[in-house]
Amino acid sequence: MRVDAVTLFPGMIDGPLSESIVGRARSEGFLELGFVNPRDFTEDRHRTVDDKPYGGGTGMVMMAEPLYRALKKVRKRGSCVILLTPKGSKFDQAAAVELSKKKHLVFICGHYEGVDERVTPLADLQLSIGDYVLTGGEPAAVAVIDAVTRLIPGVLRKSDATVNETFGDGLLEAPHYTRPAVWRGKKVPEALLSGNHRLIAQWRLEQAQALTSAERPDLAKPAKKKAGVAKAAKH
Ligand code: SAM
Repeated sequence: MRVDAVTLFPGMIDGPLSESIVGRARSEGFLELGFVNPRDFTEDRHRTVDDKPYGGGTGMVMMAEPLYRALKKVRKRGSCVILLTPKGSKFDQAAAVELSKKKHLVFICGHYEGVDERVTPLADLQLSIGDYVLTGGEPAAVAVIDAVTRLIPGVLRKSDATVNETFGDGLLEAPHYTRPAVWRGKKVPEALLSGNHRLIAQWRLEQAQALTSAERPDLAKPAKKKAGVAKAAKH
């Protein structure tokens, strides 16, 4: 997959996405990540990319023309252009799955007070990563690109690593434990030590259901999750 980010601050994206699994996905060619800086598409001496808002108010607004030119540089036929904005539709796992099927994503990262509204129609999609306001779209781009990259086939070495995950089937995932079996007096649940795959799958389903109804009752779709667990129990 190819991803380009239109950003004034490429380092805010490049740095975090050079580490760990996404960093490896980049070096192994699963993800090609590029940057285009609107500042490189200005014509004045000061390379101006922002200006005061019409009608007054605090902060600066990113000007349309440098953004337009930067976008034009990377957009191709079939690209999916995403404007990151707190006013967008809420990014979730289902959206990550959909985006992971695309060949080319382009993220427009706003900064300061945001972008000139006339840029909005250039995007195919407006996404928010949550109901809070960030200083810029760059951390949002990092979150979305990370969530999408791990869904690209081959990025996670175990092909079933995303099966039965939180949100995958409308349930939060059951808790995990690793060695030692007793840590500071706290024991790992018996079912997980039993070696009985059916019992383990049943325990995980019950835990996932209990956790979801306690923490996120809005998510629960238990029927679908059962199928996933039944599949896991066969192995
Ligand atoms: N003045 C804007 C408002 O009240 O809606 C907020 C602008 S914010 C300080 C600057 C930029 O950060 C936005 O243009 C957007 O690109 C990005 N941003 C902030 N919060 C975001 C969020 N929750 N999800 C996605 N992008 C966000």
